[in-house]
Order: sequence, then C-alpha cells, then structure tokens
Amino acid sequence: MNLTCALCGHGCDSVPHLSFQCKYSHKFWSSIKGMFYMDQTGDDMHQNNNIKSVMSKIGTAACVYNVWHERNMRLFQDKYIDEITLIKMVKEEIKWKLLSLNVKKSDAVIQT
Ligand SMILES: [Zn+2]
Repeated sequence: MNLTCALCGHGCDSVPHLSFQCKYSHKFWSSIKGMFYMDQTGDDMHQNNNIKSVMSKIGTAACVYNVWHERNMRLFQDKYIDEITLIKMVKEEIKWKLLSLNVKKSDAVIQT
C-alpha cells in the first residue's frame, strides 16, 4: 500500500500531514480561511450564535470534508480535481449553505 500523500505526492498520508504540512491542503486553506472568518480568534468566536462563528464553523466543516473527499477520490477512484477548481467548488458550497441560513437581521449580520 502506498503511504505517500495522494494530494501533494510528498510526505506521509496522515492527518498531521494533511492538517499542517501538505502543500495542496495549505494552498486550499490559505485561499478560503480569510473569507469565512476561519482564521479569527477571540471572545466573539466562542459565541455559538455569532454570525462570524457560524460562518467559521460551516467553512471549516466544508473544507475538512472536501480535502478528505478529494484525498479519497484520488486514492480509491483515481479521479483528480486541481486545487483551484476545488477552491471554487467549496466557496460555492459554503455560499449556498450560508444563504440557506435563517438569521436575524442585526448590525453584525449586515456588516458581515
Ligand atoms: Zn500532501
């Protein structure tokens, strides 16, 4: 069994590699995290109903799922999506999830 990362072709296929070392994952996360407040920290990010916190959670879940899905598609079905195309697909997916939310109109929501 090949233990090389299916996404970048370097490093060991492992959760730490995918999370912290993989060039494919890094490029993917770098392109998305700022748009959906996934790089934010602080008190307002710990409030469950805060719109930025909700956006961060939806964005993080979509990114983790899609990176893992792309890895599995490459390993088990020999199908590939380049990171630019995957980034566009995930941004659309997150956008549609956010548009389906039923949120109260508040200053924070309007500003976000
Ligand atoms: Zn990798």
